[in-house]
Amino acid sequence: TGCLWVVATPIGHRDDISARAIETLRNVTVIAAEDTRHSKPLLLQHNISTPLIALHEHNEREAVAAILRRLEQGESVALISDAGTPLISDPGFRLVRAAREAGIRCAPVPGACAAIAALSVAGLPSDRFVFEGFLPAKSAARRARLQELAGDSRTLIFYESSHRVLESLTDMRDVFGAGRAAVVARELTKLFETVLSEPLGDLVERVASDANQQRGEFVILVAGRGDDVDDRLAEGQRVFALLRQELP
Ligand code: SAM
Repeated sequence: TGCLWVVATPIGHRDDISARAIETLRNVTVIAAEDTRHSKPLLLQHNISTPLIALHEHNEREAVAAILRRLEQGESVALISDAGTPLISDPGFRLVRAAREAGIRCAPVPGACAAIAALSVAGLPSDRFVFEGFLPAKSAARRARLQELAGDSRTLIFYESSHRVLESLTDMRDVFGAGRAAVVARELTKLFETVLSEPLGDLVERVASDANQQRGEFVILVAGRGDDVDDRLAEGQRVFALLRQELP
């Protein structure tokens, strides 16, 4: 049987692709891409002439069956998505699961991932974190999800689109509190890259008052419970009160 290569592509800057990724994309029999039209320029840029087939949310079932047949016949296949690492808020999970169940080798060719890129510059605790991907689109469901996360002490990582960044930040402020430390990482590796770190209350005001800060692609990171400014203040006050009791 062949090998299913799961290949990361850039999240913005076109040079953020590894030499091994390019080599792999050149050598496989076929590349399964989320949007074949979107991926063509990338392949052109690197002189990759491997044929493309589509694997997206809407055809995943049929596409998986066809790709499995190819793999079983000994062909090697690369999976890519429109940006970053496949399967991370992108299609591919069903394909990888089916391939593994069929005993086919699946190998990663790692590279860019917006969540990890954002975490690496956010300045929030990075030893323990949770990736939550996209929040529900409707406010009630979104707030319910945020409620479930309110007590979590790990850094929370969310993906968000330009349409909803302000709404989501507002819900986060209301659920987690205005003092909770957070970071909005926008357009990473691109021309208008900005990384804002402020308490949620200030972030909401800043993004609301600047239309430019609502454009592009976003990763929102929120400090876990216990790491926010208010909690640290409260902890300081608690320690101070204890000390005062002990002082003559
Ligand atoms: N598979 C991708 C990855 O590895 O990061 C994520 C794909 S998901 C469909 C797209 C979302 O990722 C965007 O809405 C945004 O939240 C985030 N994203 C992708 N590229 C980004 C960038 N350059 N800067 C900030 N966020 C980005």
